Amino acid sequence: MLNPKPALVKADRLLRAFGPAPGLTPRLKMRNIGGELPPKERPMDKTLAIIKPDATKKRIIGKIIERIEEEGFSIVRMKLVHLTKNEAKGFYIVHKEKGFYDSLTEFMSSGPVVIMVLEAESAIKRWRDVMGATDPALAKPGTIRRDHGFSIERNATHGSDAAETAEWEIDYFFKK
Ligand code: ADP
Ligand code: MG
Repeated sequence: MLNPKPALVKADRLLRAFGPAPGLTPRLKMRNIGGELPPKERPMDKTLAIIKPDATKKRIIGKIIERIEEEGFSIVRMKLVHLTKNEAKGFYIVHKEKGFYDSLTEFMSSGPVVIMVLEAESAIKRWRDVMGATDPALAKPGTIRRDHGFSIERNATHGSDAAETAEWEIDYFFKK
């Protein structure tokens, strides 16, 4: 920039010395002071992921989290909990008329689960692609459910299926 205003030069020095100040004007934030290009604005999606009791029992929490990070998701919330049957029933309320509802909620409350909010571009679809089909036998090779699922019920992981359900599910476990 030719003839930068003195105030901007001073702001540059302060930025180099102390990093960005909380109330910095957007213009200064965009000036690439440290040599890094500002990240492109991309719409980030959030999805709810659960490592189910079959997987925590097999001690593959670490493997699944490693895969999540390798795939480029950011884990923005995470907790390990042992759900009560009622909490599992509330979570899977959309399936209450299904024949597998009681067995599913019994299973989901049978041991600890790891509940996470994952963030990425198109996180909902991408996490479902990484998990694979509900039935591990039908899931593509290399998917988590194919590699680690035991049955259509005990299929290692959960993922939200749409934007509205993701929001509802995230609220269900992480409402502040
Ligand atoms: P997904 O988890 O792939 O979104 P669904 O929403 O249809 O699948 O089902 C929720 C969960 O219920 C599944 O992940 C699985 O644990 C269980 N489930 C689904 N279908 C069956 C079934 N036919 N028998 C037993 N359990 C099932
Ligand atoms: Mg579902």
